[in-house]
Amino acid sequence: MRIAIVADIHANLPAFEAVLRHAEADGRIDALWCLGDTVGYGPHPNECLALLRRYEHRAVAGNHDLAACGRMGTEEFNEAATAAAQWTAKRLKASLRSYVQDLPMVVSEGDFTLVHGSLRWPEWEYLLSSEQAQAHLELQRTPYGLVGHSHLPFVCLEEEGKPPPDGGPSGPRPVGALVPAIDGQAVELGSQRLILNPGGVGQPRDGDPRAAYALYDSDAGVVTFFRVEYDIAATQQAMEAAGLPHWLSERLSYGR
Ligand code: ZN
Repeated sequence: MRIAIVADIHANLPAFEAVLRHAEADGRIDALWCLGDTVGYGPHPNECLALLRRYEHRAVAGNHDLAACGRMGTEEFNEAATAAAQWTAKRLKASLRSYVQDLPMVVSEGDFTLVHGSLRWPEWEYLLSSEQAQAHLELQRTPYGLVGHSHLPFVCLEEEGKPPPDGGPSGPRPVGALVPAIDGQAVELGSQRLILNPGGVGQPRDGDPRAAYALYDSDAGVVTFFRVEYDIAATQQAMEAAGLPHWLSERLSYGR
């Protein structure tokens, strides 16, 4: 099976379409795994949700999904994010709102656990350090974990062969650094437990404006990270026409 792992699509249809074209260049993918924030910030919430649902897929809710359907307030959002959340909530079709309302926070699929932020705090924690990764892995019941939310592609491995720092053999194991993942980087899945973030499809934040995603080949046991060019100007024009905050469209040019 070939499964595209996507996160933080953020209602950016040109980016999402470019990722799917790239993933399907050598044949159709069998499924999509979506790590949340399909809507929010961007101009195409209904289109992106509809496209996701055309595929066999598993998806979890992100903070922007929760805000768009009223499952979460926007008190913790900044001004631009709040404006975008309100814009999205007003436009979300009823059938798609109920789909988003029913999204789970955590999904287990085979050897993988899918969550937006972290298992400690699914809708809010930005997993950015080894300490956070360790806390997450203590709660992870599968070998491999998939997270989004930070829009930063990385891989983080639990260290093998070292004694646990405390708690005896069943205590938490040490965790390596979060290593930024680059275009074309392949991760062979083995006995080492790990956490992957595929990066953001619709609003990358690592300084590379190209859409980010990962492809899982279950026969080979390999996850490969990819970056894909898309028509950034088309999304920016749609955002300006929609009256979404200018800063949100501008940042797409820089991948910040
Ligand atoms: Zn996000």
